[in-house]
Amino acid sequence: MPTTSSAAEPASPDAALADVPYSHKGLSYPLGRRGPEPGELIEIAPGIGWARLPVPGSLKHINVWAIEDGDGVALVDTGLDIAPSREAWEALFAGPLTGRIVTRIIVTHFHPDHIGLAGWLTDRFGAALWMTREEWLFARMLTSDIRDAPPPEAIAWWRAAGWSEERIEAEQAKGWGRFASVVSPVPVSFVRMRDGDALEIGGRTWRVVVGSGHCPEHACLVDEAGGVMIAGDQVLPRITSNVSLSLSEPMADPLGDWLASIEKLRTLPADLLVLPSHGEPFTGLHARLDTLRDGHLGRLDALHAHLAEPRRAVDCFPILFGRAIDDSILGLATGEAMAHLRRLEVEGRARRELRDGVAWFGIA
Ligand SMILES: [Zn+2]
Repeated sequence: MPTTSSAAEPASPDAALADVPYSHKGLSYPLGRRGPEPGELIEIAPGIGWARLPVPGSLKHINVWAIEDGDGVALVDTGLDIAPSREAWEALFAGPLTGRIVTRIIVTHFHPDHIGLAGWLTDRFGAALWMTREEWLFARMLTSDIRDAPPPEAIAWWRAAGWSEERIEAEQAKGWGRFASVVSPVPVSFVRMRDGDALEIGGRTWRVVVGSGHCPEHACLVDEAGGVMIAGDQVLPRITSNVSLSLSEPMADPLGDWLASIEKLRTLPADLLVLPSHGEPFTGLHARLDTLRDGHLGRLDALHAHLAEPRRAVDCFPILFGRAIDDSILGLATGEAMAHLRRLEVEGRARRELRDGVAWFGIA
C-alpha cells in the first residue's frame, strides 16, 4: 500500500484549474488535476478506462484500469476490501461497465490497496488472477498468518529500531495479521507473469517490466508501440513510494533494489504516458525517475552525516521525512529509515552495534 510523502511538494499554481493540462517539475499532466468521480470511467488512452476507488488516510484513492479485452475488459488492480471500494465497483458495474464481462484480473503487487478485492472479483466473474509469483506468494502468506499476538521477532525488531516499551505494548495489543482484514481471500490459483512476458490484451501488446524495492516483484505493464505504461506504485508522480526494510528479510537491501529498478525503468522510452496508482497520469518518466533517484541519494548522504553521532532508526526521521511521524505511520517510517540505514551499511558507509537489543548506527 503504502506510500509516505517524504518531501511535501507544493501544488502547481495551475492546480486549481481542474481540467487544464499543466507541467510541474518536468512532468506534464494532460488532464490536469482531473480524476474520475465515483462510478466514472475516463478513457485515458484508446481502449483504456481509468477509475478510482477510495482509500482511507492520506492516499485518498487508488487508480484502477479497465482495458478492452475482446468481448470484455481486463481489470488492473482492485482496491481495499472495504465497503466503500465494493460500492465503487458496484457503481462501475451498474454504470460504464454494465453488461461487460471481466476477462482477467491483473494485480501489480501484493499491497492490500491493489490486491484487496481480487478474490471478490475473480469469484464474481470466474476470471483468472494474473500476478508475478513472489507477489502472489506474499499475499497468500500474509493472509494465512493470523495470530493473537505478534511473534517475539517482531517485538525484538521494534525494540532494535528504538521504539518505546509503551509503543511496543500498544502494538502487541493489536495482534498479528491485520493484512487479511482488508483483503478478500486470495485465489488459490493464479496465472504467472514474468519479467519480459508479452501480454496480448485487446489490440495492445503489453510487456511485463518487473521492478523491486517497494515490494519484491512489482509488475509494470508497458505498451511501447501505444506509448502507455501502467506503473502501479513503481513510479508515482508526486509522492515517493514507500521503500521499507521489513522483518521478513532483515538483511535485504530494498533501497538498493529500488535504485537498480530506477535505472532499469530509465531504459524505457521517455515519452510514455505513465498511468500511476496514485495521483494523475503524466508524461516525463525520465524526469520523475531522476528526481526519485536524486532524492534518495541526497537523503543517504544527509543520513550518513547524521551518523557522526550514533543513531537509532527512530533518530533518523527528521533527516528522511518532511513531516512529523505519528503512531499511525511509525511502522512505515521505521521500515523506510531501516532501508536507508541498511543501504549505507551495504555500501560500507555505516556499521551497526547492538546494545541491550537496540541497534545504533554510526559511520563505518
Ligand atoms: Zn504499494
